[in-house]
Amino acid sequence: MPGTLFIVTAPSGAGKTTLVSGLLERDPLVKLSISYTTRAPRAGEEDGRHYHFVDVSTFRQLRDKGEFLEWAEVHNNYYGTSKGWLEAQISAGKDILLEIDWQGAQQVRKVFPKAVGVFILPPSVEELERRLRGRGTDSEDVIARRVLAARGEMRHVAEFDYVIINEDLPTAIDDLVGVVRASRLRYANQEARKPEFFRYLEQD
Ligand code: 5GP
Repeated sequence: MPGTLFIVTAPSGAGKTTLVSGLLERDPLVKLSISYTTRAPRAGEEDGRHYHFVDVSTFRQLRDKGEFLEWAEVHNNYYGTSKGWLEAQISAGKDILLEIDWQGAQQVRKVFPKAVGVFILPPSVEELERRLRGRGTDSEDVIARRVLAARGEMRHVAEFDYVIINEDLPTAIDDLVGVVRASRLRYANQEARKPEFFRYLEQD
């Protein structure tokens, strides 16, 4: 039975990374896809664990060889999802989670129309602004640009199946765990899991 593909998208400041870590701790059957990126590693980020960090020419070579299921330019850096790894995992029945932006989500849906899309929203634009400001030393100019970018991203929320509003972190993690569990209970998944039982039900 093929695994389920989950796409999680959020504007920066919505708390996506923390939420996804919470899900992975609670549900070890979900595996995170490690993207390729041309951006520099941030403090504490490890190559192969948070991202595969590559230079622009390596990224372009991989892209031109068709190695990416999707790729996008986000904040002047390239990001891409490895196609070979993902297809092998899904056909081996693994549940995979992609943390990608809305442009990538649109491309993935064309190849995997059954992918489950989850969009994470902050409780309000004011709260998002407050969180971005709380991050550190960004200038007002940078914050204003991020808020504008976040508003642009949030306009794509209706393209997703589920929306989680991250007001209270433990509740939002419960919500994400709930989406994953509910997706596994969809008829097609249960039928594929226990075909003999479903065949028996069809007998007179
Ligand atoms: P960051 O640089 O903060 O880790 O990520 C910036 C943005 O790029 C986030 O919105 C993140 O979801 C997105 N992103 C990360 N990996 C990928 C990817 O493989 N493909 C796409 N399309 N977006 C990605």
